[in-house]
Amino acid sequence: MSSRYEPNGGENFSLRDILLQGRKMSLDERTKFFSHWIGTRRTQGESLYLRTATSMADRAVDYFDPWTGTVRSMLMFGSNNYLGLTSHPYVREQVKKAVDKFGSGIGGPPLLNGYTTLHSELEERLSALKGKEDTLVFQSGYGANVGLVSCLAGKHDTVVYDVHSHASFYDGIKMADAPAVKFGHNDVEELETILQGLSSRTTGDTFVGIEGVYSMDGSLAPLDRIVPVSKRYGAIIMIDDAHGTGVTGMGRGTPEHFGVADDVDIAMGTFSKAFGVVGGFVSTTKPIADYLRFFARSYMFSSSLAPAVLAAVIASLELLEKEPGIHRQLMDNIDYLTRGLHRLGFGVNPQSAIIPLPVPQTLNIRKAAYHFHRAGIFINSIEYPAVPANQQRFRISMMATHTREDIDRLLEVVEEVWNVYNLDTNGHTRATATRA
Ligand code: PMP
Repeated sequence: MSSRYEPNGGENFSLRDILLQGRKMSLDERTKFFSHWIGTRRTQGESLYLRTATSMADRAVDYFDPWTGTVRSMLMFGSNNYLGLTSHPYVREQVKKAVDKFGSGIGGPPLLNGYTTLHSELEERLSALKGKEDTLVFQSGYGANVGLVSCLAGKHDTVVYDVHSHASFYDGIKMADAPAVKFGHNDVEELETILQGLSSRTTGDTFVGIEGVYSMDGSLAPLDRIVPVSKRYGAIIMIDDAHGTGVTGMGRGTPEHFGVADDVDIAMGTFSKAFGVVGGFVSTTKPIADYLRFFARSYMFSSSLAPAVLAAVIASLELLEKEPGIHRQLMDNIDYLTRGLHRLGFGVNPQSAIIPLPVPQTLNIRKAAYHFHRAGIFINSIEYPAVPANQQRFRISMMATHTREDIDRLLEVVEEVWNVYNLDTNGHTRATATRA
C-alpha cells in the first residue's frame, strides 16, 4: 500500500532515493517523510543501523535486540577493531593511568592549551612507524583528510584522486576549492594519462590522492606502480592508509608492504580502525607538518583528543612492537576464513582484513542482513550509495581475536544465507534454483 509517507517501492529505497524524493519538500515534510520511512524499515527488521551495544567491543559483543526485546551476544564480523585492541588488558591499564594523571579531557585545541606529553610521545612513535620526520594528531580521521586537502591544495593546484576515495577526501576537495580530476579505481594507466596532460602546466602543484586499503572492497592500491608514475610527473603523493595501518606491511602500512614508504610524501591514517579508538594523523616532512598545524582548520579550530584516547594509541603501538603475535593471529584468521570461503566456492583472495561477498542487485540485502542478525552474526551490508547499485555486498571484517569456532560459525551462516536466497558465489542469483 502506498501512502504519502510509505510510497510504492519504499522498501527498496536507498538513502539517495530519499534525498531525491525530499528535494521539493519543506524541512517539516522531508524530515517527517524520512522519519516514517526509517521507522517502517526498523519495525520490519530492514534497518540494522544504530544497533545498541551493551558490552565492550570485542570478538563477541552483546547487543540489545529491539525485535525480541532481549540482549543477545553476537559474533562481531563488522568491526574495524582488527587487532582486538579495544579490550586488551594492557591498553585498558594504560588508559586508566592516563586518566588518573591527565583527567578526562584536555580543555582546548592543540595550539593553545591542548598539547601534552602524550601528544608528543604519540607523534614521535607514529613518525617512527611511518618513517617520516614529523606527525600531527587530528581529532578524527575525517578531520585529518578534510584538513589536509583543504589546507594544502589551492586553486592553482590540481588534485588527482581515485574514484573510490573516502567521503572525507571528497569533502576536503570541496573545501579546498581546487581543481580535481578523478581516475578509475586503481587504474594506473588513466592516472598516468591525467598526469601527462597536467605536466605542461607552469604553475601549481599536482597532488595524487589514494588509499592504501579501500574500505568497501578491501583492495590494495598498486603502490608499486602508482608511486613511481606519480613521482615521474613530480606529483605530491598523499596516502590515506586508514585500513592498512596496523594491518598491512607487518602493521606499518600499505606503502611498507610495497616497499615504497620513503617515496610517499604525506601518510595519513586513523586511530579508529586497528587502534580501536578515534582520531587521525598525518605523518610527513617537518615543514608540511608545521604548516598544517597552523593552517589546517580542522586541527586548529577543534579541541584535542582526550588523554584516554592518546594513551590507548600509544599502548597499541607498543603492543604492535612487543607482541607481533597479535598481528600474525590476524593474518592466520584471514587465511583460515579464506580457505573456508574457498570450500564454499567463493573465489576470494583477500589482501587485507576486509573481505567483501558480492550479492546481486535484485537481492533485498536488508532482509538478508536481518537473517545474519537473527543467526547471531554481526556483519555489515554495504548498499547504494556507499557502492554503485549493481555492486552491493556483505562486508566481513576480520579480527585477530576471532577463534576458529567463531569463523566456522560465520561460514555456516554464510552458507545458510546463500542457500535461503538462492545466491551463487559470484554475486548472482542461482539460475536454476527456485526461490525459497
Ligand atoms: N578514510 C578512510 C579510508 C576511512 O575508511 C575512514 C572511516 N571509515 C576515514 C578516513 C575516516 O576516519 P574516522 O572514522 O577516523 O573519522
